[in-house]
Amino acid sequence: MKSLILILVAAALSVASVAVIAGNDDAVAAQSPQTETLWKCRACGQSMHLTAARVMELARGPYNGGRPIDCPACGRCEAFLARQCRSCQGAYLGSEVEGGSPRCPACVKPGTNIVEPRPLEIDPKKVPVPSEPPAKVI
Ligand SMILES: [Zn+2]
Ligand SMILES: [Zn+2]
Repeated sequence: MKSLILILVAAALSVASVAVIAGNDDAVAAQSPQTETLWKCRACGQSMHLTAARVMELARGPYNGGRPIDCPACGRCEAFLARQCRSCQGAYLGSEVEGGSPRCPACVKPGTNIVEPRPLEIDPKKVPVPSEPPAKVI
């Protein structure tokens, strides 16, 4: 019986400490503009920047990627992490989302053979020194 009480006390203490941590720095940090990510709704097409705190709110829990969250514009659970087009700065859904596109649909000419661009692999510790001028990317 004594050990059961000890376990309950230990559990209560750990819950209390987690609540303190979550209630202070983390919650404030999650609302900072630096945590903003770009989202786009598949249903209504609305794009938006959401802080980590807002994402957790709309996802109704911690967000770990790969699933849609509630769209703040239309209320449907159809908002996905979006990509930003480097040409027109528009938001679009990548090919990882069903119905998405590997390239910005606004910038791809009709009939163009869309090839998934190779993901950039940049290691900040060893940035290669270009030996020749970079090829012009159109
Ligand atoms: Zn929507
Ligand atoms: Zn574009």
